[in-house]
Amino acid sequence: VDVADSPEQAAFRAEARAWLEANAVPKGHPDDFSSGFSDPGYDAHALVDRCRDWQRTLFEAGWAGISFPSRYGGRGGTPVQELIFVQEMSRFGVTNGSFSVAHNMVAPVVLALGTQAQREAFLVPMWRGDDVWCQLFSEPGAGSDLAGVATRAVRDGDEFVVNGQKVWTSHADRSQRGILLARSDPDVPKHRGLTYFLVDMDTPGIEVRVLKEMTGGIHFCEVFLTDVRIPASRVLGGEEQSGNGWRAAMHTLANERAMMGTAPTDDDVEKLFALARRAGRLDDPLVRVALADAWMGARIIDYFGYRARTALGRGEQPGPESSVVKLFYTNYLKRIASLAMELRGPEGMLAGEGDGAYFRHRFLYAPSLGIAGGTSEVQRTVIGDRVLGLPSEPRPDRDAPFRPATDGGR
Ligand SMILES: Cc1cc2nc3c(=O)[nH]c(=O)nc-3n(C[C@H](O)[C@H](O)[C@H](O)COP(=O)(O)OP(=O)(O)OC[C@H]3O[C@@H](n4cnc5c(N)ncnc54)[C@H](O)[C@@H]3O)c2cc1C
Repeated sequence: VDVADSPEQAAFRAEARAWLEANAVPKGHPDDFSSGFSDPGYDAHALVDRCRDWQRTLFEAGWAGISFPSRYGGRGGTPVQELIFVQEMSRFGVTNGSFSVAHNMVAPVVLALGTQAQREAFLVPMWRGDDVWCQLFSEPGAGSDLAGVATRAVRDGDEFVVNGQKVWTSHADRSQRGILLARSDPDVPKHRGLTYFLVDMDTPGIEVRVLKEMTGGIHFCEVFLTDVRIPASRVLGGEEQSGNGWRAAMHTLANERAMMGTAPTDDDVEKLFALARRAGRLDDPLVRVALADAWMGARIIDYFGYRARTALGRGEQPGPESSVVKLFYTNYLKRIASLAMELRGPEGMLAGEGDGAYFRHRFLYAPSLGIAGGTSEVQRTVIGDRVLGLPSEPRPDRDAPFRPATDGGR
């Protein structure tokens, strides 16, 4: 893994930094919106508007999708340049976080597995900041066992008619489009017979209901699908890929886990040191150990990032190793949020302001990371099975048809 910039990379970093200095507000500016939905007072729709404006600025200046092909709206650079740009952008008061599903999960899968028409229709609007996307995978009865998806897609002429319910759909209330996993054939084993659709969220029959979280924010939603008609041309990869959605779903999840484990961490560590200083606890040996642990955790996450990007630079796709990264980041965030609460003492229970409010929000948000994108238990199973090569968990229903095995003949 290469961690030092080569002369070309250093030149790219300098160019990126100069452009950001001229175009982005600095951290701490009254217009700083880089905390995104970690800002306790954030307004979801206003945040989307700001992310959209910033994404358009990036696109127009040629800084969108650094490593994505330029013919589809990206810059056509390398994955390492992408990492450099993300590092540099994280030093400024801006974010394009509302597009994280679009850019990190949908764009790679459409590029790899979409038809030419789908690439042309969807990729440029994603990088231009037109379309926010959401991921309609999980259901009340299918989360860890995603292959248990029961939402039905029935072919009717040139369309599929979809009925069912999704849940935990992040940002569904502010998305223009979604990736949807539905069961098109219940008579084959559960990993087959799934179809992956690219759907417009304003299609008649899609009803979105927001859910309020313990952070006080609204991050995810329930989505009800009633007789939703989706053209067969919206099956990812074309209608001949109907029933082959599992492979695309796995591709999407590996990208999701890689994305979730590579959040920039410098801000958090700096804020923790500031809290400890303010609390007069910098000399406390236990606090010093915890701060050193936080700093090391942040560096380990940086190195995971370098390793992932180096692999991408060699043309490798994120694989099961992304579970290691995601699991580590989940535990890291829980640890630093708990440390911040301890440093704040009883005050930690109050909403507070500034860094205090930020960490209170992180503390309430952190448990969700051990669930979103696959629970920590499931990540450990993936690591055991597919990274370490340990004997697999028994899967008695793997080859049994979905219908009689699990849905009582619906
Ligand atoms: C903040 C947040 C955002 C999310 N955003 C989205 C989104 O945008 N789109 C989307 O589709 N989904 C989203 N999800 C849903 C998420 O992917 C699921 O919640 C997750 O996969 C777990 O599924 P479940 O909730 O059905 O729990 P279950 O699968 O019912 O699991 C319940 C418990 O059983 C354990 N368990 C289950 N199976 C095993 C096993 N084989 N071995 C050991 N333990 C096991 C789990 O670890 C867990 O503790 C989001 C979730 C959160 C919290």
